[in-house]
Amino acid sequence: MEAETIKKSGASSKSLMSRRNFLKMKSVIIFITLFLFLSFPTIVLSQVHLIGKVKISITEGTFECDLTMSNIPRIQDYFILLNAGMNVLHFRSKSPNDFVLGYNKSNQNSTYEALAYFFPDNTGQGKFLPQEIQVRYVGKFPVANDTIQNFSRHDWKGNIAFNGYSVRTDGFQTAWYPYLYDVENDIRHDRVTYDIELICEDCSTIYINGNNPVNSTSANLKSQIPYELALFCGKFDFMDNGNVVILNPQFSEDEIQQFSEIVTEYKKYYEHKLNIPYNGSPVFVNTTPTSIRNAWLFVSFPTNMIIGWGEYGMRAMFGEHQNLYKPFIAHELGHYYFGTLKVFNSALGDMMGEGFAEYISLKLTEDLLSEQYNNMLSNMLKSLENYKTKPISQIASITDIENRNIFAYRYAPVIFLAIEKEIGKDNMWKWLKAIIETKSEFTDYEFLTSTLKNTLNDSEKFNFIENTYFTSENSTENALKRLNSN
Ligand SMILES: [Zn+2]
Repeated sequence: MEAETIKKSGASSKSLMSRRNFLKMKSVIIFITLFLFLSFPTIVLSQVHLIGKVKISITEGTFECDLTMSNIPRIQDYFILLNAGMNVLHFRSKSPNDFVLGYNKSNQNSTYEALAYFFPDNTGQGKFLPQEIQVRYVGKFPVANDTIQNFSRHDWKGNIAFNGYSVRTDGFQTAWYPYLYDVENDIRHDRVTYDIELICEDCSTIYINGNNPVNSTSANLKSQIPYELALFCGKFDFMDNGNVVILNPQFSEDEIQQFSEIVTEYKKYYEHKLNIPYNGSPVFVNTTPTSIRNAWLFVSFPTNMIIGWGEYGMRAMFGEHQNLYKPFIAHELGHYYFGTLKVFNSALGDMMGEGFAEYISLKLTEDLLSEQYNNMLSNMLKSLENYKTKPISQIASITDIENRNIFAYRYAPVIFLAIEKEIGKDNMWKWLKAIIETKSEFTDYEFLTSTLKNTLNDSEKFNFIENTYFTSENSTENALKRLNSN
């Protein structure tokens, strides 16, 4: 989900709303700023298990953690990533031998909010990786507890966000817990199985990805399915009707019921189109940022974090502009398939995760919210009129992508829409199913094209598509031309 899309939807509403409402909506949109990074984990190979104790205070803004990583895959060139605001007492090898480890920090390989740690081996040339590592650390973060004096300039996905009544984190970007990064294969082992005693004395509800929210100040939370450990703990209520879970639901029963029905309808739509079951209840977090402005969403599946004040936040789902927000919910739900069932890596992984989630949300909008669709589409096409990019076949590294927001959220879905025009909707859904179900070490250009080629089983057609949309310097024009024709 990103700002560009939100702006586009706002603009598309022009003809549907009075001018006054449009201006109001515009002001909503202006507040929506985005700090968006990859919202999905990478390929899961071997599962690290995390066991230990995490103590949080939402009034103090503190973390006190004693976590042990086990079942660590044997990786030669690795880093252990941990948020730069966390102060380490020690990294301790627990197996094969028990001793406190010497560590170094890499200057080049710190990412997002994390520092990259490693343990030099005896030669000093290589890296040593124990089979089990205990990490004890503490961190104290600012608490933004009002909007008069104590607030931040920005809020973003990688923020460990204490807003006075709760703490919110994603998993890999905040790196509030230590996880392994495989340098050679560009794989983050941020999805972990866990057995964690979570304590928050000043909370009423504790929630960690992979467990239901618990109405308590402490709980032993376990998962044998790996998750990115997004957190939302604090003083708030929650509802769980077996179909959808809402944390901090400050809405009426009717509104909640209505929202639950929308989620059911969208899940069924995707299930039917892809012929792959949509399992589990998505979780929606209704919360406010640490800043006065900023409103955005992100997903750490199955948790959808919806961040914003009043009608700029999840409340918008129930107001007069709710139709504008439905495509975002559809996009986020789409990440169950693109980003969760299928996890992506490589330079094109982001484009596929976001591009396919956006593409299926466009299809849902076309079929279920048809009055929205034409405006959405024409704004999307218009915004690409002067867009130049290296074609997909030439993206070897993320630095080849000039404007990530446009490339992943607009260019990619428009390329997919053009391909749909060439091969038909049925083949398109078949291709998407193949993308989700085909096993691959890297989700690179070879993966993208081989799944299409196998789906079509028509090399002439495939070659035409590859030449027109994947390798051509004029791919944008080609797609726009195809979509503007009948
Ligand atoms: Zn997304």
